[in-house]
Amino acid sequence: MQTFPLFLSLQGRRVLVVGGTDHAARKVELLLSAGAQVSLIANAVTGEIAQHIADARICWAGRTFDEADLAGVALVIVATGDEALQARVSQLAQAHCVPVNVVDRPALSSFIMPAIVDRGPITIAISTGGLAPALARKLRAEIERALPAAIGRLARFAEIFRGQVRRTLDEPRARRLFWDRVFDGRVGELALAGDEIAARREFMRLLDSARSDAAPAQGMVHLVGAGPGDPDLLTLKAHRLLQRADVVVYDRLVSPEVLAAARRDAERILVGKRRGHHTVPQEEINAQLVALARAGKSVVRLKGGDPFVFGRGGEEIEALVDAGIAVEVVPGITAALGCAASAAIPLTHRDYAQACVFVTGHTKDTETALDWPMLARPRQTVVIYMGIEGLPSIARQLVQHGMPATTPVALIENGTTERERRVVGTLATIEPQAMRARLSGPTLCILGEVVGLALERDREIRFESRMRL
Ligand code: SAH
Repeated sequence: MQTFPLFLSLQGRRVLVVGGTDHAARKVELLLSAGAQVSLIANAVTGEIAQHIADARICWAGRTFDEADLAGVALVIVATGDEALQARVSQLAQAHCVPVNVVDRPALSSFIMPAIVDRGPITIAISTGGLAPALARKLRAEIERALPAAIGRLARFAEIFRGQVRRTLDEPRARRLFWDRVFDGRVGELALAGDEIAARREFMRLLDSARSDAAPAQGMVHLVGAGPGDPDLLTLKAHRLLQRADVVVYDRLVSPEVLAAARRDAERILVGKRRGHHTVPQEEINAQLVALARAGKSVVRLKGGDPFVFGRGGEEIEALVDAGIAVEVVPGITAALGCAASAAIPLTHRDYAQACVFVTGHTKDTETALDWPMLARPRQTVVIYMGIEGLPSIARQLVQHGMPATTPVALIENGTTERERRVVGTLATIEPQAMRARLSGPTLCILGEVVGLALERDREIRFESRMRL
């Protein structure tokens, strides 16, 4: 080990900072967040430091450093570009046995500042022994991504019950097993999701059952939006849940790339739906989710796009809540947003579209079910989900209700994935173009002047290279 890691309490202790630069400002903020009393010595200070001084959060001496300044300080941080001063402070601090860090000068430092992940009260410090700070930052980013933002909440939750668990389970091994079950299971999930009441209830149940070695805990279902296909468009939360799931129940709409983000040994269950082929009826999916949760599994119900946008997420929640199963919903990027971004179509634009409507083209009777006069209105963008089968009748109705036949239309198939294809035309031309393209994957239809904007830009920046038609 190059250096010895420890966590130092600085509550109410004096820390000396030499230098008034932006570097110093970063260190001052960290020190203040650890409760230190900061004294800063610098002839001149920059804006952020000046603000701390004006707010009386730190003490400032506008003069040069003196050996006497080291008296009674817990740490010294040197953040000045003046190399002679750096060396002098470093040497004197070490002579007085005061730990010293000179920013970016490991040779002059007796301690180094780690890269930090702060999820109060949990703090993770990363060091490469001063060899590769950039690598430490990369590791920090990876840890940030893997750790739920609310992990601190879990630590505070556990703290409340520590004494009670110690009193209830006096065998250390039993306690360790119990805490593993808390953090890995439903209690942890509920506490992370912020449902403290349910978490407490489940915690007490688990503690009771640990005492009497009773039945395993009930599982939980996370209704998770998988986004439009590109795995980079998953939310961090979706990614984390996929990494922990026992079972992933998914639709055909979920791209293989997204599914690959699930834990390798998680069970995967396809309850595919595809245009015209309803492989598994909704009631059966609901029953399956309930059964899996009752068997104690952590279930991720993965749905294309966002679960609540034409996703029947509402029906699944109802069934789960009726069965007394805990559910959490994690939003996803819906196809309209993913496809529009990918095709550079601004769904609203203050000069062309003040509104954007999402509709489904898949209704029992498209001709009568949709509000055509509303959809045909000018100055708005219309996004049609599941509209490809009904395209001929949709186009006809829109023109009949006054939408100009010259209105630009984009059909985007498998948007945001490697397989994305786009067909762009107008209301008058799109139908035969779509026929020729034989679109077979999930396809979104975007109508409105804003589609034309993207086309103009396409010409300029040669987006055509990405249009494989
Ligand atoms: N809940 C989903 C929508 C489900 S309805 C969401 O929020 O995106 C299914 C329809 O969504 C498809 O028929 C298609 O119109 C659209 N869709 C979903 N993913 C798509 C994609 N990657 N590219 C194009 N359209 C997509």
